[in-house]
Parts: sequence; structure tokens; C-alpha cells
Amino acid sequence: MRKLTILGATGSVGLNTLDVVRRHPERFSVHALTACTRVAEMATLCREFAPALVVMADEPAAARLRLELADLPAIQVLSGQDGLCQAAEDTAACTVVAAIVGAAGLLPTLAAVRAGKRVLLANKEALVMSGQLFMDAVTASGAELLPIDSEHNAIFQCLPPTHVRNLDGAGVRRILLTASGGPFRSYTAEQLKTVTPAQACAHPNWSMGQKISVDSATLMNKGLELIEACWLFDTTPGCVEVHVHPESIIHSMVEYLDGSVLAQLGSPDMRTPIANGLAWPERIDAGVAPLDLFALGRFHFERPDVQRFPCLRLAAEAFEAGGTAPAALNAANEEAVAAFLAGRLCFADIPVVIERVLAATEVQPATDLDVIFACDRQARAGARELIAQRAI
Ligand code: NAD
Ligand code: MG
Repeated sequence: MRKLTILGATGSVGLNTLDVVRRHPERFSVHALTACTRVAEMATLCREFAPALVVMADEPAAARLRLELADLPAIQVLSGQDGLCQAAEDTAACTVVAAIVGAAGLLPTLAAVRAGKRVLLANKEALVMSGQLFMDAVTASGAELLPIDSEHNAIFQCLPPTHVRNLDGAGVRRILLTASGGPFRSYTAEQLKTVTPAQACAHPNWSMGQKISVDSATLMNKGLELIEACWLFDTTPGCVEVHVHPESIIHSMVEYLDGSVLAQLGSPDMRTPIANGLAWPERIDAGVAPLDLFALGRFHFERPDVQRFPCLRLAAEAFEAGGTAPAALNAANEEAVAAFLAGRLCFADIPVVIERVLAATEVQPATDLDVIFACDRQARAGARELIAQRAI
């Protein structure tokens, strides 16, 4: 029996994980669940999955949950970052699904890594912020890091398991990272100025949380994924080529020196990479609809347009700058996306804010978490100022 801790259980990835778990009660049980403030949803999950430990992001939410669960005194309810980290490193679970969105997931995800867990990584922002430190922690603890971001899981599946961080040794020429292009793929720069949060969140192929939906629409998601791929597979942006593939059926590819290109295909459904990570190296049913290639008929590929979607370029530049630059990029993006979702910033200004914050960032070596969080705070403050100036 594999005991799981799911960080971000009430989110899109969290709920997809629980759907896979539900199909395999003989294989998986839930030790701990965490969420931000959605008390009612968490109470429902507790009644179904009977975790031993639950953590809410703040104490008022935890207090409300304790009241809701008064008839289930065996469930311990904690709160805050300390509680999240305690859940992540608890020895009772061997596997942690890191599915909190954004920088809020860094400490708990890193706690799971440092505790040597099997870590299913969805929370790409954590890796983007702390790259080298994160991968050093994986090596030091012997944690089993399995990517469940669909593209990275596809790349992982197309590599020999012994060479995931040794692409040269595996004879890899390059990684072909696919992107849907998002809902505004064919919009003109002029049209991008007036798009709404509702339009940005209506992704053509995937149903996801709001933040990653906006990131997909700006192509920042692909930028974060480019950085994620560089850390996971120990490579550089020059060896990763983004291919816009609007059907989202090929989840990414690996090209080898002999000309072979291996691809992983499947319906755009997160339960496939999640099930792959949960059961790895075995294969289990994920409840995913089989692919009907006859119905699909054909695939398309385009180059990304970094004129209309500068976020991809900004992410590559931040990775090349190194140190704390990706943490600044991530923080500025989180602030700009939140402002866009709140109706305070226009879509086309998201990259403008990020570019200015990056230009004002004094990049430091990202040697410890204090430096990384200091950069995160400074970039957020800078972004908020710019957002206030450009407010709509
Ligand atoms: P979501 O918004 O649906 O869910 C986020 C989860 O994190 C929720 O459970 C929420 O309660 C929790 N959370 C948010 N803020 C928190 C805080 N401050 N403290 C503690 N918990 C907090 O997001 P999602 O779409 O499930 O994405 C989660 C992560 O997975 C993101 O990093 C995203 O980039 C990545 N990812 C998502 C998908 C997808 O299909 N949704 C695919 C690939 C990667
Ligand atoms: Mg992805």
C-alpha cells in the first residue's frame, strides 16, 4: 500500500490525483491532504478519504474545518507553512504530490524532497524559483523526483530511466517541448489588449486552475516549463525547442542522435501523468479516454511567436541570467496574473510588468532560501508598484 500526502488537494491536479486514487483502493491510501482556505471542499474529501492529517493555509480556515469535522476526532487539523511542511515530511507517507500553485508551494515541496520522498512534481514554480538548490536537495536526500507536468512526464517517459539527467550519455540531440499555444494563439497584438480573464481561463484543451490557465494564454507557462525542463533533465534552453501543437495530443518529444524522435501521446488529461508517477514503473488504469487517432485525423505544428507572447523569451532570459533571476520572473508573473484576474491589469501589460521587474532586479547567486525569498519579496513589491501605475 502506497501512502500519499497531497499538497493542494482541492485544486485541479489534487482532485485529478484523488480520482486516480479512488480507482485503486488496494494500491493507494491517503495519509495527508492540504488546501488553502476551501473548508467545505476539504471536509467532503476528508469524509471520503479519511486522512490522518489535514492542513489548511491559515488558522481561521483550520478552526472552521475542525468544527466541520467534530464527529471525526481522529483527523488532526493543522495550519500554516509549518503544518504544510510537517505534512510534506511526515514519515507515515512515502509519496508526496506537490500540487500547490505558485511560490506558496516552495517550502512544503522542498520539505518533501529533503525528507527523501517520492515527489510527484506539478508545482513548477517551486523548481523555477530554487532550481539548483532544489536539485541539490534531490541528490542529497535521494528523493525520487517524478515530473507530472504533462510535458515533462512525456519527456521522462521518452528517456531511458537511467539517463534522465544525462542526456549526452543517452544520445539525445534535443527536447521538443510542445505547447498548445493557448486560447489566444491566433489573436493579433491589438486583440490581445482587450481579452478578459474569463476568455483567458477558457483553455481550448485542458481544464486547469486559473493561474496556470492565464500562464498558458501568455505562454509564460511554456517559459516556466522551459526552465523546469532545464533543471529536471540537466540541459540548457538551447537544447529545448518549443513546438506549438494546438491539438495537445503529443505531450512532448525527445530527438536522438540517430534521428529517432520518441513522442508520448495521449488525451489531454492530467490523470495520465499523475497515474504514471503514482504507479511508476508500473502502469495502471487512470480512467482516461483512449486516443482516437482516426477521429483526430491530423496534427499541426507552429513556431511560437515571441513578439506577441514575450513571456517565453523573458523566461529563457531569466534562466540564462541565472541566480535569483527566475525567482524574480516568477514573483512578478504571479503578481501580474493576480492583478489581471482581479481586473486591475490588462493582459498585454503582463509581460511589460515582468520585463521591467527583471530589468530592475539585481541578480544574486541563489545559494540559500533567504536570498530567494528576499528576491521574491522585492520583485513582488516592484511589480505591485508598476501595476498600480498601469491600473485600468
Ligand atoms: P489550482 O489553483 O486548481 O489548485 C491549487 C491548490 O493549491 C489548491 O488546493 C489550493 O488550495 C492550494 N493553494 C493555493 N494557494 C495556497 C497557499 N497559499 N497555501 C497553501 N495552499 C495553497 O491549481 P492547479 O491547476 O491544480 O495547479 C497546481 C500546480 O500544478 C501549479 O503549479 C500548476 O502550474 C501545476 N500544473 C497544473 C496542471 C493542471 O492541469 N491544472 C498541469 C500541469 C502543472
Ligand atoms: Mg504542462
